[in-house]
Amino acid sequence: MNAVDLEQASLRLERASARERLAFAVEAFGDELLFTSSFGASSAALLHLWSEVGGGRPVVFLDTGFHFPETLAYRDALASRLSLAVRVLSPTTTRDAFLAERGADVQRTDPDGCCAVNKVAPLEPLRASARGWVSGLRRVQASTRREVAILERDGHLVRVHPLADFSDDDVRAYMLAHDLPDHPLTARRYLSIGCAPCTRAVADGEDPRAGRWAWGQKTECGLHTTRATDAAR
Ligand code: SF4
Repeated sequence: MNAVDLEQASLRLERASARERLAFAVEAFGDELLFTSSFGASSAALLHLWSEVGGGRPVVFLDTGFHFPETLAYRDALASRLSLAVRVLSPTTTRDAFLAERGADVQRTDPDGCCAVNKVAPLEPLRASARGWVSGLRRVQASTRREVAILERDGHLVRVHPLADFSDDDVRAYMLAHDLPDHPLTARRYLSIGCAPCTRAVADGEDPRAGRWAWGQKTECGLHTTRATDAAR
């Protein structure tokens, strides 16, 4: 798909439903479509759509070794409920070996390095062999995501964001309509959930993503910072 075709398809899909956007990606990329999920606070809506449109293709989950136990339990419960096949990818090093080598406070001293080893590198072989990649990025989630398009070129890949224009209320309405369970930590005001060392609860009125890497400037894990819009920013 050349750049003009991609932009036109993306604009056309702005008027489509999330289900139609996902169906477009499945049709366009088939088994070369990668679908990743963090099984976070707002993941259930897209996972539900994938369970209906994805044709049994797997959900890829990056097990960094630093997830909350609640996230792993939520992953397993949702996968069972939605009959999803979850493919778990892990780093080549264990959590203990990584911390021994890089220091117990590596998330503070070098969070980019930690994400590179534990998130970005494990996905790379699948990323390299895919032609499309679906993820749950939404425009309202962060200033770095405001320009997210439904379809975006990212090197050899087309990034697909079926929920790009969903508000938090849209996600909530979808979850309620389909009786989807909340991540267990949302009740404790963890509203954007990543690895445990890099996530805290937020106060009333605080931006949901303020709880991610709250001690520094980092806002993205590195999986989503190679998008074309980021490169152009
Ligand atoms: S989110 Fe935190 S713990 Fe997880 S890979 Fe990145 S720096 Fe490491």
